[in-house]
Amino acid sequence: MDNQTKTIFITGGTRGIGKQVALKFAQNKYNLVINYVSDKTDVDELKEELKKSGAKDVILSKADVTNANQMEDLIKTAIETFGKIDVLVNNAGITKDNLLLRMSEEEFDKVIEVNLKGTFLVTKLVSKYMIKAHKGSIVNLSSVVGVSGNSGQCNYSASKAGIIGFTKSTAKELASRNIRVNAVAPGFIDTDMTENLSDSVKENIYKQIPLNRMGSANEVAELIYFLGEDTSSYITGQVINIDGGMIM
Ligand code: NAD
Repeated sequence: MDNQTKTIFITGGTRGIGKQVALKFAQNKYNLVINYVSDKTDVDELKEELKKSGAKDVILSKADVTNANQMEDLIKTAIETFGKIDVLVNNAGITKDNLLLRMSEEEFDKVIEVNLKGTFLVTKLVSKYMIKAHKGSIVNLSSVVGVSGNSGQCNYSASKAGIIGFTKSTAKELASRNIRVNAVAPGFIDTDMTENLSDSVKENIYKQIPLNRMGSANEVAELIYFLGEDTSSYITGQVINIDGGMIM
């Protein structure tokens, strides 16, 4: 087993922000562990793309972050194959938007289950190995709406605000084990999650962004790379907005 090569685990890393994070760490010669649920991505093609970009090795597996058994199996495979997980990015997330009075219990529960409970389950499983290694960096995907709230997203914003509390608590718990935990709070990023918005909705959103544009998944990946690596070794428990100035 090659102990020099670092390993990153990215949940939901087949598209959008997660895929850009995978490419960024691949370019820096990491081993990659990626899971996803159903999506249109051709996973064999993606695996090839990541290897061509520089990844040492890639485990790409269909596994649901809300299923503790599936996550445990995947993490065990990763440890057996690579020996350690240096960086964890809790990226998998969904939206099921609706106004409060129209929101069903299912819509509320599902978003909390994937975004918040999924982050808890995966962090608990991976941190066990980071504690043994006495080293690690965890980056959780929150959102500006977890800080500011947003009409039509009470489930999603509650899950993302929950991630902020979770990040700060785990940062305090794990600091003595040399494990850092931070959150990034992206604003309006150009991915599948935002592509269905109409042009008029997008124009209205741009008016609230001083930089007057959407961010790219690559810009978020650059920040996550900084937080994952030792260049950010004195930063823990922070929530870093990446939103073109939307929230100041
Ligand atoms: P996306 O919809 O493009 O990709 C989401 C990924 O998560 C996919 O790979 C999907 O397979 C995976 N996924 C969904 N449910 C899963 C589950 N139960 N188990 C495992 N994987 C699952 O999303 P994105 O826009 O790239 O967003 C990534 C993260 O960033 C999310 O947590 C999202 O809430 C957050 N975020 C996005 C934006 C934005 O504007 N796009 C803004 C703020 C925060």
